[in-house]
Amino acid sequence: MNCNEAVTLVAAYADGEIDGPRGDLLKKHLLGCAGCATQYQSVLALRAQLRAEIPYFPASPALRARVGAVIGAMDAALPSRPRPAIERWRWLTSGALAGCTATILAWVLGTAVIDWRASDDLAVDAVTTHVRATLSNRLIEVASSDRHTVKPWLSARLDYSPPVQDLADEGFALTGGRLDTLKSQPVATLVYRYRQHTIDVFVRPASAHAPPPALRTVRGFNVAHASGSGMDWLAVSDVSADVLSPFVQRLARADAAP
Ligand SMILES: [Zn+2]
Repeated sequence: MNCNEAVTLVAAYADGEIDGPRGDLLKKHLLGCAGCATQYQSVLALRAQLRAEIPYFPASPALRARVGAVIGAMDAALPSRPRPAIERWRWLTSGALAGCTATILAWVLGTAVIDWRASDDLAVDAVTTHVRATLSNRLIEVASSDRHTVKPWLSARLDYSPPVQDLADEGFALTGGRLDTLKSQPVATLVYRYRQHTIDVFVRPASAHAPPPALRTVRGFNVAHASGSGMDWLAVSDVSADVLSPFVQRLARADAAP
């Protein structure tokens, strides 16, 4: 094996795709050729760097279900045993069908990724807003533990009226509220105190978009989501997830929202 041949194979070899006699020849060449060995090492280094630096996101159960459904539909749509008499025609139609299902699969994956990106950006946006408010000492614009003060203050400044309640007897004291912008839309922010922690709860009318994940961590902050009372509830805090998630679900429950 010469260098020209070896260089074209190193990337596939690094991925474990070259085996058998060709793999042996390449391995032998790499042992004896410094130039090609360097090329091979740089492919390995690049792969390690990509693995280390590009975030890995497991597919959500919803995405898995959608992809599974499409693959199931493909299996059902494609003839498994074409009869010889019409074999050629079947080949043609199954080719066209495969093209269609591939297009549908690409579309489903594409929209799922767009949904995921939108919800991902929402969590990042929420954390950024929370941090900005904390750092600029702008956590509270209307300071009150009285929901009859906070709610009208917010309602007067928004085109919706967020449910507001104080859960001080459960450890979550309402300390006030403020107006923020989330995904370029004005949003009501309720501010709660839990021990030494501040919890921001963004409340906005439920949207038709795919809901964000129930729980995420962004830059060390937990972001917990719940839907209820016609609203989307997004809580951001440095409190632990096992405190934050039940809290936001409690707020979102219809019976808890007067
Ligand atoms: Zn070489």
